[in-house]
Formats: sequence, C-alpha cells, structure tokens
Amino acid sequence: MTCTEFLSKLTDYFDDHLEADLIADVKAHVKKCSHCEVVMDTTRKTISIYRENELYEFPDALRDRLHAAIMKKCSKSN
Ligand SMILES: [Zn+2]
Repeated sequence: MTCTEFLSKLTDYFDDHLEADLIADVKAHVKKCSHCEVVMDTTRKTISIYRENELYEFPDALRDRLHAAIMKKCSKSN
C-alpha cells in the first residue's frame, strides 16, 4: 500500500467500511510509515472531537489538508 492509497482508505477505516484484508493493509502501512502513523493519530483525535460534539462528519477540507501534508513529507523522505 502506498501513502496515497492509505489516505484514500483512511476515512473508510474510521467509518468501519473497510474489508478485513484492507484493514490489515492499512495497519501494516502505518507500522512502516511514520508519517502516515501521525496522520492516522491526528485523524483519530479529530474524529473523536467531532463525535464528542455530535458534529461528526469528516470534512473534505481536513482530508485535503492531511493529504497535502503527508504527500509533502513522504516525497521529502523518499
Ligand atoms: Zn505512508
């Protein structure tokens, strides 16, 4: 799984929309990619804040921002 694929699966991962083998791929990716691990952690925290406030709806703007940030980091480290 690439960082781009990881990001495209991330919201589904938190929404429990992924199949078991994809969940395994996502988990395997964050184990070897520290940037995506941070993204996942940030996303989890963001979602829990949204849920606490009963405003849960994953904002496209946030996903775009995370995507831009991770692609910048990953391209630097490669
Ligand atoms: Zn990654």
